[in-house]
Amino acid sequence: MDDCIFCKIVRGEIPARKVYEDDLVLAFNDIHPARPVHVLVIPKKHITSLAHVTAEDEVVLGRLLAVANRIACEAGSPDGFRSIINTGRVGQQEVMHLHMHVVGGPDPVGPMLKRLQ
Ligand code: AMP
Ligand code: ZN
Repeated sequence: MDDCIFCKIVRGEIPARKVYEDDLVLAFNDIHPARPVHVLVIPKKHITSLAHVTAEDEVVLGRLLAVANRIACEAGSPDGFRSIINTGRVGQQEVMHLHMHVVGGPDPVGPMLKRLQ
């Protein structure tokens, strides 16, 4: 994916504040943090969204979840965190390269969703 912004981060073509990297996933600080800890964890391979995964992606998806606690602890949220994966139009996904938000900090992150009126 030549023009995918997160693929460009994987290739080192645009800068990011990396906090974790292994053979399958990369984690870096969100450019507009919503909480004191706000890290994005992405597969190094381009996967558009959770609506586009195949059976061969199961290992990388497992890794994505498996590294979340380590990343949260090292980023300053050792007492838990929230992980969010937005998917497609209804999930209001903005960047079309699958990513998991790891959000936390010293204080609880608040209500998960705004309720309908
Ligand atoms: P989503 O709405 O789940 O697609 O979230 C996309 C996230 O990517 C947002 O929180 C943005 O702030 C973040 N983002 C977009 N571009 C960059 C970038 N170049 N470096 C770091 N985070 C980014
Ligand atoms: Zn990509």
